[in-house]
Amino acid sequence: MSLFDLTGRVAIVTGGNRGIGLGIAEGLAAAGAKVMIAARDPALGESTAARLRQQGGDAAFHITDITAQESCVAMVAETLRVFGRLDILVNNAGIMIGGPPEHAMLADWERVISTNLTGAFLCAQAVFPAMQRQGGGKIINLGSLASSFGTARGAAYASSKGGIVQLTKSLAVSWGPENIQVNAILPGYIESELTQRAELEKPGSFAAKLARTPAGRIGTPQDVAGAAIFLGSAASDYITGVSIPVDGGYAVQI
Ligand code: NDP
Repeated sequence: MSLFDLTGRVAIVTGGNRGIGLGIAEGLAAAGAKVMIAARDPALGESTAARLRQQGGDAAFHITDITAQESCVAMVAETLRVFGRLDILVNNAGIMIGGPPEHAMLADWERVISTNLTGAFLCAQAVFPAMQRQGGGKIINLGSLASSFGTARGAAYASSKGGIVQLTKSLAVSWGPENIQVNAILPGYIESELTQRAELEKPGSFAAKLARTPAGRIGTPQDVAGAAIFLGSAASDYITGVSIPVDGGYAVQI
């Protein structure tokens, strides 16, 4: 059996109804995993799950708001009810609210932190009992280039994504003895609604990112799937606490 085979494994992908989360959900399903898509928009979530099933995968949708603890707990309960087990959590759901920090509203700061950082923590906490009971599991957190770099118009976003790297290390240390591996993916600039909105707010963002990306192209959601399959599979069983850039070389160029 391939080290990367996910047959029989069950994955939750938060924000799996579009963008990078959808790319990851499709990748995990193609590798054999059953996928629970967890997001707020029911129409998009249901149609995405139906499409994954049409493509030959096994998928379901559960309406979830990761900023609410009871919603994260319910997401796990529904996954166990539908699929009977839980092996992989992809903490992908995230938001960006841009603007200069001196004018940032407290409510916007709190929304970004509670979605990107606290939401990832709440989902990880919610999956822990099932993974512990099963003897192990995989948690994959989505960071960003902004996990490592500062950004003039995204102080809350960068703070939340920097926090993701430290959350990843801390959960890896805490849950290593439970055979739960916790790692992060740091995507570069990827085509999605999030980056399209950023381009509208600050025209030229795409061109600027492209200009310093050694790969010579902007990434796609499908580009992120390979790292997620690796980190969700037996191939990464002795890897924990690390953050893997998937950025076409952006972060290694001086
Ligand atoms: P999108 O805006 O395209 O998608 C965001 C997803 O998150 C949607 O599926 C949305 O679903 C879900 N979501 C947002 N808030 C919540 C919530 N409270 N509860 C549940 N789901 C929620 O973003 P991307 O695909 O671009 O980004 C995905 C992740 O990758 C994010 O964490 C982002 O920070 C990160 N990232 C993106 C990069 C990029 O270039 N695109 C670069 C680096 C990191 P719904 O609205 O239905 O709830």
